Amino acid sequence: MSEKRKYKKRYCKYCEAKIDFIDYKDVASLRFSLSERYKIMPRRLTGNCKKHQDMVSNVIKRARAAAFVPYVVTRKEVVPNPFEILK
Ligand SMILES: [Zn+2]
Repeated sequence: MSEKRKYKKRYCKYCEAKIDFIDYKDVASLRFSLSERYKIMPRRLTGNCKKHQDMVSNVIKRARAAAFVPYVVTRKEVVPNPFEILK
């Protein structure tokens, strides 16, 4: 519980922007629903509603198949220098 919460507000970003279609080529907007290792963020963290989370996860899977978003990210790519974040 002492852990700092990264995502404070619980609202659906997509509902707020009234988005009913997400382009799989638009990686910049998909990045919001992806973790730093390009995993799909769970709904409890992003605050997306069920409808939009399903939409986003579908689009991300499509984007992965089209190689817009990587499936896996190795540690090397995530942290260039692991000793930098220790301090
Ligand atoms: Zn929504």
